Amino acid sequence: MAPANEDGSHESRCLRFKEIDWNAPLELADVKTKGDVGDVVLKMDNLKKYYEVAASALFSSGEKKVVKANETLSFEARESETLAIVGESGCGKSTFAKVLMGLETATEGTITLGNKQIQDIPIEDRDTQTVADVQMVFQNPFDTLNPSMTVGRQIVRALEIFKVGNNEAERWQRMLELLDLVKLPRAFATRMPRQLSGGQKQRVGIARAFAGDAKIVVADEPVSALDVSVQAAVTDLLMEIQREHKTTLLFISHDLSIVRYLSDRVMVMYLGHVVELGSTDQVFSPPTTPTPRRCSRPSPSPTPRCKKAHRA
Ligand code: ADP
Ligand code: MG
Repeated sequence: MAPANEDGSHESRCLRFKEIDWNAPLELADVKTKGDVGDVVLKMDNLKKYYEVAASALFSSGEKKVVKANETLSFEARESETLAIVGESGCGKSTFAKVLMGLETATEGTITLGNKQIQDIPIEDRDTQTVADVQMVFQNPFDTLNPSMTVGRQIVRALEIFKVGNNEAERWQRMLELLDLVKLPRAFATRMPRQLSGGQKQRVGIARAFAGDAKIVVADEPVSALDVSVQAAVTDLLMEIQREHKTTLLFISHDLSIVRYLSDRVMVMYLGHVVELGSTDQVFSPPTTPTPRRCSRPSPSPTPRCKKAHRA
C-alpha cells in the first residue's frame, strides 16, 4: 500500500499509482469508424404490398379483406451503408424485407437492384447472382437452421446454392473460413444445431448470409430472440463483417440505442409508410420546429404517442 495523498489519509494498492495522469482526456472504449458509403445499390419506388385475407375466420363467406402492409415505400440504399429501419410492431418492416428477398411479390411499385427490377420475381425464379446478392439474417435462429443437418453441411449447402467453389473440397475449405469469419471454432462444423447456443446459431445464420458475398443483407431484428448477454457481441460481429465486406445492411430493429450506435441513416415507418428518413444524427436530434413532429419517431415509452389509425 502506498499513500495516495499528501496527508496519508488515503492509500492505494496500485503500484503504478504515481504514473497516472489524472488530467489526461478520457478515451472512448470503442470508437466506431464508419466507412465511406458508395453508390446506390438498391432503390425502392412506391412499393406497395397488400395481403388478401378472409374477412371472417369463422365463416368462409368468400368475402376478402385487404391488409395494407406496405404503402408507397420509397428509399435508396448505398454500398457500405447501414440503414436502420424502425417502427412499431405491425408497421410493415418484415413485409418489405420479404418482398425484397422474393419470399413475397409486390402488389405495386418497383425494387431496383443494380439495374434489374426484382419486385415481381419470387426467390425460386431468381438467378443465382440475385439470390446470393440479397440475403437475410432472420429474427429467430432457432427456426432457420435445419435441425437434422450439421452446421458445416448447412453452410456448404448455401455455398452450393450460390455456386461458390468448384468442388466439395473447395466448398468445405470455404465453409471453415466462414466459421472463422463469424468467430466460431472450426470444430463446430460437425456439430448439430441443438448443440449450439442461441448466439452461436445466429452466428451460423450470419455465415450463411455472407456465404455468397451478399451485396445487401437484411437483418430483421437479428438479436431480439437472443439472450441479452450475447446481443452486443452478435451485433458487433455483424457490423464488423458489414464494414469489411462493404455490404449494404438494412437493420430492422426495435432497439433505439443499438440503432443510434450502428446506423448511418434511419428510416422510421408507421402503418406501412415512411414517415421519416435521414441521417442518424438528424433523426435522433430534438425537433427544431415549435410543433412536435407527431408520429415521426418511435416512442421508447410503452404509451404510444399517436392514436392508431384503423387499418383496412
Ligand atoms: P412488422 O415486421 O413491422 O412487425 P409485418 O410486416 O410483419 O410488420 O406486418 C405488417 C402487417 O401485415 C401486419 O398487420 C400483419 O398482420 C400483416 N401481415 C403480415 N404478413 C401477412 C400475411 N402473410 N397475410 C396477411 N397479413 C399479413
Ligand atoms: Mg417483423
